[in-house]
Amino acid sequence: MRHSLSPTVQNAAFRALDLDWVFVAFEVPEGRAGGAIDAVRALGIDGLSVTMPHKSAVATAVDRLSPDASALGAVNCVVRRGDELVGENTDGSGFLAALAADTGFEPAGRRCAVVGAGGAARAVVLALARAGAEEVRVVNRTPDRAEAAASLAGTVGRVGAERDLAGADLIVQATSVGMADRAGAVPFDPDLLHPGQVLAELIYQPAETALLAAARARRLTVANGLGMLVHQAAIAFEHWTGQSAPLATMTAAVSARLAAG
Ligand code: NAP
Repeated sequence: MRHSLSPTVQNAAFRALDLDWVFVAFEVPEGRAGGAIDAVRALGIDGLSVTMPHKSAVATAVDRLSPDASALGAVNCVVRRGDELVGENTDGSGFLAALAADTGFEPAGRRCAVVGAGGAARAVVLALARAGAEEVRVVNRTPDRAEAAASLAGTVGRVGAERDLAGADLIVQATSVGMADRAGAVPFDPDLLHPGQVLAELIYQPAETALLAAARARRLTVANGLGMLVHQAAIAFEHWTGQSAPLATMTAAVSARLAAG
């Protein structure tokens, strides 16, 4: 929480649009999410972002859920609408917006594979299915979690094996393998990749994981997780303020903060 990028990105956006809003991070102990939501009601706070480990608990504490938050059982953004607090999940729509902006890839009718089955992967699986993917194959170290994630894609969801990645049009790397503390590790054999495929990596720090570099060397179209980070924040901003988010300002603010370490 102390390392959250949300205050940086949202306060930059509020300043850019000259809005009288401020984003403040609060550390909430595990098990106290319900109390925090009661405090939001009492204090009349208009919106908030929710991070781990509270995303599931907040889903049971708000008054209403969006279809995505309900399907995922996880909330990353709360919006006040009249007297109600509505739980949203902006990860999937943020991912799709970033994918379109950074790679031009359109999931409708395409074969997609998601590596990983955690919270981020689940949001991506649901979003790809909702966007009309022909198939969403989930490849994960723990098979039970792959099964649960694949079921979010309904009839187009399948559990896959690593070798299936060679047949996908889009591969989304949604595990934590390759993050700064394990930089250099790859979650699958990059020799399965070939030109014509798109690789979307959800990690943004480091900006270029070993997998992303290997995919680039094999002439794939690639994107890292910075776009998803900014777009999901931009969608939250738009829910709260009703105004178009200043994407360039938000991207610059996050990039500067990441560069500063
Ligand atoms: P999570 O819920 O903890 O899930 C982690 C996933 O990584 C699980 O599928 C886990 O497999 C897999 N994994 C972990 N260590 C592994 C290993 N050594 N070998 C193989 N698989 C391994 O995490 P999350 O919240 O989904 O986040 C996943 C990644 O997405 C992180 O890097 C996070 O920074 C990134 N992310 C980015 C954005 C963005 O806006 N760009 C948003 C959210 C998350 P098991 O199921 O087998 O444990």
